[in-house]
Amino acid sequence: MSESLYALMESRIPGDRSRVLLETGDGGSYSYAQAETAAIRMARALADRGVAKGDRVAVQVDKSPEALFLYLACLRAGFVFLPMNTAYRPDEVDYLVGNAEPSVIVCRPADVAIMEGIAAKHDGPLVLTLDTDGTGTLAEAAEEAPADFPMVECAADDLAAMLYTSGTTGKPKGAMLTHGNLAANGLDLVESWRFTADDVLLHALPIFHAHGLFVACHCVLLAGASMIWLPGFDRAEVLRHLPRATAFMGVPTFYVRLLAGEDFNREACAAMRLFTAGSAPLLAETHEAFSARTGHAILERYGMTETGMLTGNPYDGERRPGSVGFPFPQVEVRVADEQDQPVVTDAIGDIQVRGPNVMKGYWRLPEKTAEDFTADGWFRTGDVGRIDERGYLFIVGRAKDLVITGGYNVYPKEVESVIDDLPGVVESAVIGVRHPDFGEGVLAVVVPAAEDAPDEAAIMAHCKEHLANYKTPKRVFFVEELPRNTMGKVQKAQLREQHADLFK
Ligand code: ATP
Ligand code: MG
Repeated sequence: MSESLYALMESRIPGDRSRVLLETGDGGSYSYAQAETAAIRMARALADRGVAKGDRVAVQVDKSPEALFLYLACLRAGFVFLPMNTAYRPDEVDYLVGNAEPSVIVCRPADVAIMEGIAAKHDGPLVLTLDTDGTGTLAEAAEEAPADFPMVECAADDLAAMLYTSGTTGKPKGAMLTHGNLAANGLDLVESWRFTADDVLLHALPIFHAHGLFVACHCVLLAGASMIWLPGFDRAEVLRHLPRATAFMGVPTFYVRLLAGEDFNREACAAMRLFTAGSAPLLAETHEAFSARTGHAILERYGMTETGMLTGNPYDGERRPGSVGFPFPQVEVRVADEQDQPVVTDAIGDIQVRGPNVMKGYWRLPEKTAEDFTADGWFRTGDVGRIDERGYLFIVGRAKDLVITGGYNVYPKEVESVIDDLPGVVESAVIGVRHPDFGEGVLAVVVPAAEDAPDEAAIMAHCKEHLANYKTPKRVFFVEELPRNTMGKVQKAQLREQHADLFK
């Protein structure tokens, strides 16, 4: 039997394939059967142009139903789907194309000249286009292709997708994800979050990242559910469709924006059963404001490109602000010391994980892959955290963001929490930059509220009251907003660069 993710999805969709898979914001609707036919035609069109099992299909297109069908086409045909951030500029695409060596690039029609230039530099992959309205040369080729293409046999270990990490801590790395990885994680989520064929997911995330592509779509596709497919996050559009939805997934920024107007309230969420958050830490304050306004506790979960979802707050039971909850059923999580030995309850250490969800390795980076796995087969997430006596995981930051000042470790999250508690502070980012005496010096970048914002001295005094001296920022800077990428991740590397010379 094929172990392809597509075969699994098909086996789990109850009888009637005329059920709706996708509805678009403007009233369009696509059944499971229609999506399959579209996927078969696309697979056939690509195969007829020489794309074979295991070949990478690099995709930089805006979100559309057809973009999802292209993903399904790849899964069905054994092609390796490689989505690229739509914000990537030609230099970044050039790097990924040179690195991944795709057989075909699917791009926006407006970018075709640039892509052909890039393709010409790298062994000449075929360039096809796909527009948001479903037109383009790929669509034309699919239209002309007969709707027959067999489902390609795939083993659990065959690659299904290659996603590049967000590049928060360095150059993006290609994570090789297998059919088995995606299937295991998808099933874990469906079970943990109780997805059924009756669910309607309101989908407003981008689909070039694991969150929108895997977490959201697999919950739907493995449950035979449906989704309302929005091109992106638009507050008014989300509010318009929310009354018909049962589930919503967002990055923390989505929730902050929803809470910005009183029209987001209990009534707007009447049909909803689940809100999840991830990709970046959800502020406890957002979590609490959300509960007060809607009566729903956001379920925060934690994962990464290389591993899919690792932990989540419970469906039943307490969803704790500031915690990312418990491991999903097939995932093992441990917090370890420098010798890769598990630490005791509440001690801070490296978060390491193991399970069928963990990627095969980094594409063409065997040394990096070897470095990131322990001798006993655990993957080093690069995140630092602790597990409390009830088993809840708390992330305290990334190992690369840890500040070492005068020989002491400072976990940015701890300092940020203290600063954020101060009235008049919206949020903060604590970083370390080179310091002639201490190695690194701590500084805070703070987003003040419109009214009653504390000044630098007040923030430092508050920190001194609640934190050891070495953890207290030596300087505080104020900004209107923190630099974030499209997934809401704070770009600390950028902040470190800006303030690099502060203590010199
Ligand atoms: P790169 O690996 O290229 O530096 P990245 O780690 O940001 O980039 P992703 O795989 O998109 O790339 O993000 C995974 C990371 O996001 C996790 O390692 C973790 O640091 C962070 N993250 C995800 N969910 C949460 C969460 N709920 N709370 C805190 N951090 C989270
Ligand atoms: Mg990472």
